[in-house]
Amino acid sequence: MSAFNRLLVAGLPLVPKFIVGKVASRYVAGETLDDALRVVKVLNSEGAMATIDVLGEEVAEREKALAAVDEYLRVFEAIPAHGVDSNVSIKLTLLGLKIDEGFCRDNVERIAAAAKAQGNFVRIDMEDNTCTDPTLRIYHDLQPRYGNLGVVLQAYMRRTLDDIAQLPREGASVRICKGIYVEPRRIAWKGFETVRANYVRALEKMIENGVYPAIATHDEYLVCAAQALIDKHGLHREQYEFQMLLGVDEELRRILIAGGHRLRVYVPYGQDWYPYSIRRLRENPEVARHVLRAMLSGK
Ligand SMILES: Cc1cc2nc3c(=O)[nH]c(=O)nc-3n(C[C@H](O)[C@H](O)[C@H](O)COP(=O)(O)OP(=O)(O)OC[C@H]3O[C@@H](n4cnc5c(N)ncnc54)[C@H](O)[C@@H]3O)c2cc1C
Repeated sequence: MSAFNRLLVAGLPLVPKFIVGKVASRYVAGETLDDALRVVKVLNSEGAMATIDVLGEEVAEREKALAAVDEYLRVFEAIPAHGVDSNVSIKLTLLGLKIDEGFCRDNVERIAAAAKAQGNFVRIDMEDNTCTDPTLRIYHDLQPRYGNLGVVLQAYMRRTLDDIAQLPREGASVRICKGIYVEPRRIAWKGFETVRANYVRALEKMIENGVYPAIATHDEYLVCAAQALIDKHGLHREQYEFQMLLGVDEELRRILIAGGHRLRVYVPYGQDWYPYSIRRLRENPEVARHVLRAMLSGK
């Protein structure tokens, strides 16, 4: 990233919200469930699966967490009603993790039960390091009972290989990603190549341990390394999937699908789009060009 881009990224919180919204709209399906369903239908028609995420995080009021549960229950009614191929992703701080772990676990359980009734699946996103232990506790508690939960591990975390070793030998499904939160070096690898190396190590350990890997990346190097591991371990098409974010590198998405791989796109929607969009813009190598163009266009 250029020095100018780094400066702009640091100043993103000062950019007016409507401009952030304009530039970041490619990363978010819209504000309503109908918007999400429309996007998922298009993705399905292009050969991609989806995972729908209700935007929001760090809620401090029980009512907001309960409203998010209700929204997920609506999603599980809508998926079969619209005949779309999608599961869901959830963030535990939206479901009350910072209020009370037991309350959050009960909320996740309601979502897991609704998913199970529809034969569907729930991926628990991984947030910052304060959430890692409680997220894994809730996953390890509920997964044996419901069997339709998956979790996320972050390649930048030094603990990730140990966390893989703790997973159940059968039926574990893990999304492996680099990790997006800013973590201290004490607990997280910092070098770009180091994180890549740990990603490949983690992915191979998951495959060796019989974990279903959801390979979440837009990094062509990692896609190539993952393909090598898929070949080396003789995985069939149904034994793994690639995952990408809405609005990022659609060309790579098409290449993977044309290559015969299964690919799932993360489709977030909702009114609480701002923190998610800021994180996505920080990763965008062309952020300055987009933001400047939006500012100059004056709308
Ligand atoms: C499906 C999915 C789910 C995720 N879930 C989580 C999670 O639960 N917890 C978590 O901490 N992180 C999550 N992430 C984010 C992840 O940790 C990374 O921050 C993100 O994927 C960028 O890493 P990368 O592997 O794509 O490599 P990078 O090196 O960051 O990106 C590779 C290339 O992809 C392109 N690119 C990447 N991001 C953008 C962008 N925003 N806009 C435009 N181009 C871009 C650029 O060309 C870049 O050079 C998820 C990512 C995906 C794909």
